[in-house]
Order: sequence, then C-alpha cells, then structure tokens
Amino acid sequence: MIRELSLRLSPEEAAGEQSLIQAVSRETGNAPETIRAVQVLKHSIDARQRTVYVNVTLRFFVNETPEELAFPSIIYRDVSTRPAVVIVGAGPAGLFAALRLIERGLRPVVIERGKSVRERKKDIARISREHFVHPESNYCFGEGGAGAFSDGKLYTRSKKRGSVDRILSILCQHGASPSILSDARPHIGTDKLPRVIENIRNHILQCGGEIHFETCMETLIIKGDEVIGVRTRQGGEFLGPVILATGHSARDVYHELHRLHLAVEPKGIAVGVRLEHPQTLIDRIRYHRPEGRGDWLPAAEYRFATQAGGRGVYSFCMCPGGFVVPAASAPGQVVVNGMSPSTRHSPWANAGMVVEIRPEDLADPTLHFSPPLSPLALMLFQEQLEQLCWLKGGQRQTAPAQRMTDFIRCRLSTSLPEASYTPGLLSSPLHEWMPEYIVVRLQAGFRQFDKVSRGFLTGEAVIAGVETRTSSPVRILRDSRTYCHVMLKGLYPCGEGAGYAGGIVSAAIDGESCADCIAPAVQSRL
Ligand SMILES: Cc1cc2nc3c(=O)[nH]c(=O)nc-3n(C[C@H](O)[C@H](O)[C@H](O)COP(=O)(O)OP(=O)(O)OC[C@H]3O[C@@H](n4cnc5c(N)ncnc54)[C@H](O)[C@@H]3O)c2cc1C
Repeated sequence: MIRELSLRLSPEEAAGEQSLIQAVSRETGNAPETIRAVQVLKHSIDARQRTVYVNVTLRFFVNETPEELAFPSIIYRDVSTRPAVVIVGAGPAGLFAALRLIERGLRPVVIERGKSVRERKKDIARISREHFVHPESNYCFGEGGAGAFSDGKLYTRSKKRGSVDRILSILCQHGASPSILSDARPHIGTDKLPRVIENIRNHILQCGGEIHFETCMETLIIKGDEVIGVRTRQGGEFLGPVILATGHSARDVYHELHRLHLAVEPKGIAVGVRLEHPQTLIDRIRYHRPEGRGDWLPAAEYRFATQAGGRGVYSFCMCPGGFVVPAASAPGQVVVNGMSPSTRHSPWANAGMVVEIRPEDLADPTLHFSPPLSPLALMLFQEQLEQLCWLKGGQRQTAPAQRMTDFIRCRLSTSLPEASYTPGLLSSPLHEWMPEYIVVRLQAGFRQFDKVSRGFLTGEAVIAGVETRTSSPVRILRDSRTYCHVMLKGLYPCGEGAGYAGGIVSAAIDGESCADCIAPAVQSRL
C-alpha cells in the first residue's frame, strides 16, 4: 500500500527517516516494521508562533518498496546534423534554452564571453586577493552566468508550477540533490552548483551541441528585417536565429542594441546595500528562542517588505549562513551581492536591502542624478553609483560600510564588526554620499522591520555599499506570443537581461519558452 500524509512535527521528529516512520506509525496505526520507506514530498518550517513546527507532506510505503528515481529523466537525442540556433550567454536562460532546443530536435550553438566554470573560479579568487576584476570573467560573466557562484536559491514567484517542477527535475537529472523537489525553500549552494553546470554542459556537447568560451558577441548580423547570426569580438561569425540571453550586467550589449536603434525601454530596478547580521542573532529572532536554532533547525531566513515615501523597500536575495561577495563586472566599480554554501554554515546572515526606483524617479532631485534622455538612463544611474562606491571604498574592491544603527543616526562608525566580505570593509558615512532618495527610505524601512522583528535593528549588523544588480535596468521589447523581438525576425531576447526573468528558475523557464517559440519557426523553414 502507498499513501500520502501531511504531518505537523517537531524539528527533531522531521529530521530523520526513522523518526518520520515512527510519526507515520503513530498517525496511521501501521506497525513501524511494515513501513518500508517514506518519501518527503513537501517540507516547510512554520516559525510564526513561539513553538516552531515543521510541516511535512510525505508518501509512505507499507509492505512495498519505492522505485529508485523520484523525478522523471528526460532523454536528449543526437542533434549534430540538425539546424543550428545561436545562443548568446551560458547563464541559466541560455543553458536551459540549449537543453530544450535539443529536446525539440535543434542544435544549440552557445557562445559565452567568459570562461568555463572551473577556470572562472580562479578569476573570482583574484577579486578578493588582488582587488582585480577581470572584465570577462567574474561573478556575473562566465559559464553558469550570474547564477553559478550564487546561493543557488531556487524559489521563484513564477506561477507556472509545472514549469518550476520541470526545471528542478532537470537540475536533479544533472546532479542536484533530490531534496530540492520537496523543500519549500529549495537551494543548491555555491559549492554544488558548478558540478551541476558542468554536467549540463557535457550533456549539450554529447548531443552534438557546441559551447564556445571566451567568445563575446560584438554585434548582430542583420539582413533586411531579420537577424541571421552574430559577429564576435574575436572576428568570428555564428549563423542562425539568435537567442540573446546575456544577463543584466552586459552593458555593452545594451549599448549595441541602442546603437542599432532596436526597441529597448528603461525598466524599474531596486538599489540599496547588503546588510549582514550574526546568524545566531537572526536565529534567535526568527525562531523566538534565546538558545538559537539548536540541532535540528536550519540557519534562519527572513523576508521583509514595506513602503516608504511611496516606494517599495524590501529585503532581497537573503543568504542564511552565507557570505557577502564582490560582484562587480568591470574594474572601477564596487558592487555587493550574497551567496551561501549548501550547508549554510557561515556565522553570518546577509540580504540585500533595497529601494524601488522607477524610470520616472530619475527626475527626482534627491536621487542626485541628471539623467540623459535615453532608454539606458537607469543603467547609467546604476553604473554611476557603482563608480562612486569604488571611490568611497578607496579605489579597491573594499566596500564602504557602516554599522546599521550608525546609518540610522547619520553618524560615521568608529569601528566595524567582523564581517564575511573578504576584500574588506572601510568605514564610510553612507548616509552622506548615497542618494537621499535611497537613504531616507532605507532608514524608514529598517525602523519598520525592527518593529515586526525586535532586535533586527542593531549595532551588531553592518551595511555595505552598493547593491545595484537586483534586476535588469532595461527591457528588450519582444512579442508576447512569439517571444521574437518586436522589430526583427530571428532575434529572441531572453532571460533576466532582456527583462523577462529575475532569478535562476525564472531565467531557466524563460530559456525553455524561447526555445519552444523558436522551434516551430525554424522547422517551418525546412
Ligand atoms: C552573487 C549572486 C547571487 C545570486 N543568487 C541567486 C540565488 O540564490 N537565486 C536566484 O534565483 N538568483 C540568484 N542570483 C541571480 C541569478 O543569478 C540571475 O537571475 C540569473 O543568473 C539570470 O540568468 P540569465 O541566464 O538570464 O543571465 P546570466 O546568468 O547573467 O547569464 C548571462 C550570460 O551571458 C554572458 N554574456 C553577456 N554578454 C555576452 C556577450 N556579448 N557575448 C557572449 N556572452 C555574453 C555572460 O557572461 C553570462 O554568462 C544571484 C546573482 C548573483 C550575482
């Protein structure tokens, strides 16, 4: 007999297979020895009340043995003689577009400006060690895209549940832990992601697809009203319809599209700082326990959102047990972001704390920006703030920083707490040089978050500037049905950089959707 059951358990009971079997036995009356296995289908922590519970939905097997594979495996066939589709960018959008094209019987030819994920690691280490940002190989550029050395959080606001499950299954097929299929807040971890990315690459190559590293698209090849390929900075050409999945940090791509007079528009972003607390403090607050999370609970998370001055102020990309990382994509900028390993074991908890900025806000005098009349204006604002941050950080990758309480009281911090950011922090009055538009809203937001989570606003926490790469500042306009650019045939703007995704899973879903739109268009020409 196989049955499903939902249980509300203590963290300890939910932690192991034997204790789950005991709980099922208690609930159903079946003797523990007859329950051969339990498969967790959904797992979430309920920390809203004083007592923390774990909600578990599981399948249990009485006198039966489960099949081994908990997720369906897709069979990818050889496409080496099939028509080529050019994919620019090997981030989640580009890689999932490539896999989907193979499923649809087309040959993906991926070009990627950065290096393989293994080579890329060396350049990332140099950012902290030598304060050198390689403009083609960093936290944003290279195999796996911006998602490669990230937290690997796989939560998404996407409503397409079927598509989300499909992406998670494909990640499992390529080496991710099957626990991501059941966890309500799934994440892979920065230590495990590179292996999954390499497995996806090998699969694409085995099926006859191509991946070219250190190959940067310079421009599109346009014939009449159609894109027929791309020209690279290295002097090569790749021909075929083009999926443009270049991410939100490829500013040269936006400049090129603008130069070609292609339809792009400014898109709202959110800008602010990275906030870091001791993880033990967040555990105490979120689990309402002075002793912290104990042996059975994971590093606690938080998520806050409020309104201040008519704009959203919210936490972004929270990384429990993680590290703040230097995420600039060119020299002369300081940009902070966050990531965590699979175990989430670091002593720190960090999150972006950001304020919404809409295109019309660029005219606000408290933003201290004279916008040129351009669809790229928000991107230029982002860039200007990152350069200012680099100057304030001492023209290195050192991040200007301030204790949270000093930021609220508008005073310089005389000392900074120990922090995870390896290039180092430099005490700086962020309240003075960050645009007032952002400062006053962040201050109001922090006070509000402390009201709902007492102890959150503390001198033990530090803020570091600046968090700017929250989403794309530009949208590349495409037809909502065909996903083709509104002006040119053969061009499929895709993923986060095109303005249609925000995160690993939604970028992957968009990659698949672009491949699905391109397949009938190519096949109708055969
Ligand atoms: C430090 C960090 C942590 C993050 N943590 C998370 C997280 O935990 N969960 C989550 O969902 N999201 C996270 N994100 C965001 C997530 O990584 C992105 O939303 C996602 O990677 C977007 O996917 P994409 O494929 O659209 O673009 P990208 O991942 O940005 O990929 C674009 C690729 O295109 C390449 N490229 C650019 N221009 C060219 C060109 N001209 N020629 C050739 N190649 C080019 C780039 O090198 C890059 O590899 C994080 C981001 C960062 C930086």
